[in-house]
Parts: sequence; C-alpha cells; structure tokens
Amino acid sequence: MSELGDGKDGALSVQLIGKLTRLPSERITTSLLERTLHSHDLAPVPPIIKANYNNMPTAVLKPETTEEVARIVASADSLKTCLIPKGRGTSYLWGSVPVVGGVIVDMVEMNQINDFSADGEWIEAGAGATWEKVERYLEKRGFSLRVYPTSMPAATLGGWIASSGSGLGSGGSGVGSVMYGPVGKNLAGLEVVTGMGETLNLSEPEDIADFVGADGITGFITKVRLKIRKKPASIRRILITAPDTEGTQRLVEAMGAMKSVYFAQFEDASMLEIKTSLGLHAPLGVKGFLLFASLEGDAETVSSECDQLKEMAGECGGKTLPEEEAQKEWEERLYPMRVKRGGPTVIAGEFMAPSSRLALVLKDVYAEFPGGAAKQGIHGVVIEAPDVMLMPQVFSDERKGLKFLASLAYVKRFNDIGRRHGGQPYGVGHLNAFNAKAVHGKAGYARLKALKKKHDPGDIINPGKGIEHRTRFGFAAPLFMYNLSMFGLGLFRRLGV
Ligand SMILES: Cc1cc2nc3c(=O)[nH]c(=O)nc-3n(C[C@H](O)[C@H](O)[C@H](O)COP(=O)(O)OP(=O)(O)OC[C@H]3O[C@@H](n4cnc5c(N)ncnc54)[C@H](O)[C@@H]3O)c2cc1C
Repeated sequence: MSELGDGKDGALSVQLIGKLTRLPSERITTSLLERTLHSHDLAPVPPIIKANYNNMPTAVLKPETTEEVARIVASADSLKTCLIPKGRGTSYLWGSVPVVGGVIVDMVEMNQINDFSADGEWIEAGAGATWEKVERYLEKRGFSLRVYPTSMPAATLGGWIASSGSGLGSGGSGVGSVMYGPVGKNLAGLEVVTGMGETLNLSEPEDIADFVGADGITGFITKVRLKIRKKPASIRRILITAPDTEGTQRLVEAMGAMKSVYFAQFEDASMLEIKTSLGLHAPLGVKGFLLFASLEGDAETVSSECDQLKEMAGECGGKTLPEEEAQKEWEERLYPMRVKRGGPTVIAGEFMAPSSRLALVLKDVYAEFPGGAAKQGIHGVVIEAPDVMLMPQVFSDERKGLKFLASLAYVKRFNDIGRRHGGQPYGVGHLNAFNAKAVHGKAGYARLKALKKKHDPGDIINPGKGIEHRTRFGFAAPLFMYNLSMFGLGLFRRLGV
C-alpha cells in the first residue's frame, strides 16, 4: 500500500492525520525514534530476513475511546494506509509489528476499568489495560482473574485475547488455564471495531469466538468483559521432583486431572543449572525434573490433592521440597524470560502435545538438543487436559550472523516433534503464519479467512499476517519455501549454539 505524507523520513503528516481522525496532535507521533521503537517485538530476527519486510510504521496513534478507533479506521482509506493494532508488543511472532508498513494503533491509553458486576461475575475494562492492573483492582475486592499470561505486568487484555495461541476462538493459555482453559473460555463480552468501521457489542460465545485468537486481523478489540472468580478459600503451593521423564509424565497427567490444580509448570535439571549459574532462583541439586503446582479451592480438596501429589512423587523416586521454595517458585512465575541473560539470545520452540505422550516427546527433544557445551533446557506448562505446553530452549547469540541464522532451524524442528506426537505449534502472528492451518485447524483456518473477508474486505487491519506470511514485495511466502529453507539451515543448526 502506498502512503500519503509530507512528514520526514517517510512518515505521514501529523496535520493530515489530525484533520482526518480528529485526534489531538499529542496523541499522533511520527518521530523516527518512536516509530523505530514500534518496528520490532521480542523476536530476534536477523537483518537478512528483516530485509524482506517493511517493519517501519509511518505514524503511531494513541486513541482513548472507541469512537476514536472507529474514526481512525474510517480515515485509513483517505490516508492510504493499513493499521496495526498494538498492545505492549510482548509477543515474539511479529503480530503487532508492521510487515508492509502502515500506522501503529497503540491501544494502551484505553486502559480504564469501566464496570464490575455486583455479584462478582465479571469485570469490564478497556482493551489496553494490563492484566496486572485488573488483578490488583479485583484483589482489593476479594476477587481474582481466572486466567492471565505470565507476561501480566506488561501485556494488555486485547493483546492476549487477540494472540492466536492454540487457535481461533481459544487464544492463549497461561496461569489458571489448567483449571479454566484458554482465555477464550473466560470471556463474557467483547466490544470490537471492525475493518468496516462498525462497532460490535458481542456477548454470545460464538460471536466472541470470532475475534479471539484472530491475531487482530479482523478488528480492534476495544473493551473486554472478563469472567472472574472469588478468591479461593484455601491455597497450597508445592514443589516436587521426578528423576525421569516417565515420572514427570505421571505427575503432569495427575495435575491436569485434579480439581484444585490452578497452575502447574515444570523444568528440567539443565534449565535449573542455567538459572543457578545466572544467580536466579532455582533449588539446588535437583536431578531430572522440578514440578510446581498451585492448588486452590476448598480446604479439603486442596489438602487431599496436595497429599496425593507428594505421595505420587515419592512413588516415582522424587521428593517434596520445603513450602518456602514453592512460594518462591510462584513469585518467579512472571519472569520466565530472565534466563535470556544466559544467551544473549534464546531460541525456543513452543508447542502443545498430549500429556499422555509427554515422556516420548521429552525423549525426542533431548535427541534434538545440540548437546555438548551448548546451553539447553526445557520449560513446560500444564494447561487444560489433555494437553501440555512445551518450550525447549537452546541458547544462542544473534550477533553471530549466519551461524545464528542456521540455529533458527531449531524452532521448526522442536515444533515438528510436537506434531509427530499429535500436538500442534502454538501461536501464528506473522513469523509462524506458515503454520496457521496447524494452529487453527483446517476448519478454523477457513473460518478465519472468511471472517477477514467479512469484517475487513479492504484488508486494512494487520494485513499479511494470521492467514498468510506476506513480504514487502506484495506476495505471501509459500510454505514449501519455508520448509526448504529450514531444512537447509537445519543442516548447520549446531554452528550457532
Ligand atoms: C515474559 C513473557 C511471558 C509470556 N507469557 C505468556 C503466556 O503465559 N501465555 C501466552 O499465550 N503468551 C505469553 N507471552 C506472549 C505474549 O506476552 C502474549 O501473547 C501477550 O499477552 C501479548 O500482549 P501484548 O499486549 O503485548 O500484545 P502485542 O504483542 O502488542 O500484540 C499481540 C497481538 O495482538 C494484536 N492486538 C493487540 N492489541 C489488540 C487489540 N486491542 N485489538 C485487536 N488486536 C490486538 C496485535 O496486532 C498482535 O497480533 C509471554 C511473553 C513474555 C515476554
């Protein structure tokens, strides 16, 4: 798409945007510095790959109301631009990064808490509010979020709900998902501005589902009504070990089936060693795997299931660590990226797999790991049964140029392991759009394509993502090209780690 403008360095003109959108000039930015800050997310992408996309936005707009968002959408045609919905940019799949240029619509000013039901059933807030802000508000009133991402201090409601995670209608899984499922199961309503400029107020689950996990390609989420829960009567946190993959699978399957397990995750001994070497919190001397669970609910169930897990750990040859260690593990749950210091770059797979296959999946991941002196480790999260989420990580250095490029092949190789065992890759955005069918399923993918046509026929919102991997040259890179290049790079993958 061509851009109109008399701003400097390819930027649009502030006056023109102001005239068309009626946004005050202090909420329209075209400075090169600010635009550069919005030209990437957390994904480490080498310059040779970046050259195929136009990541530089022509302006950054900060609406405060739904009406302003609708006016921005209505002006896109006159501005001859596309629009990229953005939360806090905590993703790593380029979902909120321009790939064919365009204007960033930064939603973070729409962060007010609007309404709270008297019976404590739901809370309504602007899509730009952080999960942490909403949780703090609820905490003071004796309630709590049902689910949230571990990026909660920064991530916005709209950003996580739009992120594709496990697919259209479901979205991401995070803290609370073992009990409440993915975020899509925890919504009571959405307000959305579509690519046609229409404002929709959605309260039926099947209507809401059309905008969950859609990578923001069909519309802007402007307000969110979240289902909430009462603060649990009893909470116990436990940290147990399992010496091998079979014991880990048994414990993970048990956690997934228990009524009171709210959040559970695990790490292998090499990940713990990396943490220790970086001065991060990690219990010492763990062999095999460390498993954490937060059990929440009525005191009787919590206590009985806690005892069952401890007993099972003993049967598997593991042990139970002191409760203070478990509490520290809970407090650290929001900082999974701290290990990145050991990189400086971490290459991570992210996929779901049936927990009944966990031991086999872990064995395949270990066979794929580079071994030797390379830093490598596994982080896993127990999500809604029957699945588990795995993030195998190898540490690399993006300054190593072509060697680093080759090591990116690990991402595909890890995700392929999940697929071989009946799982699927996690998240689409732009970088993983080659896997859109695998993430959404065939029917979900077809539905998302139809929704794009229905709600955004002019391809104004987040073009080139979610259902395709478009380049700056106007065409979408085909799957075979991705597979071929990953195969080629894969031959040299060990050079970069
Ligand atoms: C430390 C850390 C922990 C994480 N933990 C988790 C986790 O537990 N589970 C998980 O699934 N992910 C996790 N993530 C990934 C990421 O944080 C989440 O996807 C996150 O919620 C994105 O929120 P954001 O506000 O940063 O959105 P952004 O990254 O800005 O945007 C994400 C996508 O949403 C779209 N979007 C943003 N706002 C809107 C809107 N208002 N309307 C329509 N579309 C919109 C964007 O276009 C983009 O496609 C984690 C990331 C980090 C760095």
